[in-house]
Amino acid sequence: MRLDGKVALITGAGSGIGRESAVLFAAEGASVVVADIEDLGGQETVAAIEKSGGRAVFVHADVAKAADAAKMIDAAEQTFGKLNVLFNNAGIMHGKDDDAVSTDEAIWDLTMNVNAKGVFLGCKYGIPAIRRAGGGSIINTASFVAVLGAATPQVAYTASKGAVLALTRELAVVHARESIRVNALCPGPLRTELLMKFLDTDAKKQRRLVHIPMGRFGTAAEIARAALFLASDDSSFVTGTEFLVDGGITAAYVTPE
Ligand code: NAD
Repeated sequence: MRLDGKVALITGAGSGIGRESAVLFAAEGASVVVADIEDLGGQETVAAIEKSGGRAVFVHADVAKAADAAKMIDAAEQTFGKLNVLFNNAGIMHGKDDDAVSTDEAIWDLTMNVNAKGVFLGCKYGIPAIRRAGGGSIINTASFVAVLGAATPQVAYTASKGAVLALTRELAVVHARESIRVNALCPGPLRTELLMKFLDTDAKKQRRLVHIPMGRFGTAAEIARAALFLASDDSSFVTGTEFLVDGGITAAYVTPE
């Protein structure tokens, strides 16, 4: 088992990538703190883990609030005694996030607060705990849109994910000598609720699919397996990376017919 004896905290673990990762990390031996703003989804993730014989606890937390971020880290140490892996994964994509001219300031602030400040706060309170555990791994979910511009804009989302990459790089360098690795995980477009609610017609889906060499959307399970690699000692010499798991989208100029 690749996370035997480890304690992992995953934000946004009530759905999608976070839930798949929580279930996978638990199956690999980790005790998992499931943090989410949605209680029902979080509790369902815990139930799924416990049903398979794993160990998990749910903590209600809004990652954009400092007090909640501190509380979720405390829960890891109080429930399972330590924190080894912090997966800052919670994120939002707002339906009214568009180009710079038409996006409201409030949408920008909300998106930056959850997607960028949420990662900062997770690290602010999580790093001292990982230090107390003697080191560990931090994974921050960014996106392929942090490295590619799209003519179907979501400026706040894109900028927030760019911030995650820059923050990750700097923290990786700052904490490299204390056995704390920090990597960004950049998923390509996935067949999850978050994206599919926007791509609600075949034409919209096709507009995206044409850019993906593999010709399909990814799955949350495929991203969870990449997160497991970054969480475990299999990636012991990997830090500061922008780990792209995107079906080749960022490598493509012209895709296959
Ligand atoms: P999802 O909507 O299925 O899951 C996101 C989870 O985060 C939900 O359970 C939600 O309740 C939780 N959440 C939202 N705001 C929160 C807050 N303030 N505090 C705590 N929890 C909060 O989405 P997903 O596809 O699993 O996305 C997970 C991450 O992956 C996000 O950061 C997203 O931006 C990123 N991502 C997704 C895709 C994609 O195509 N789905 C692509 C690239 C990156």
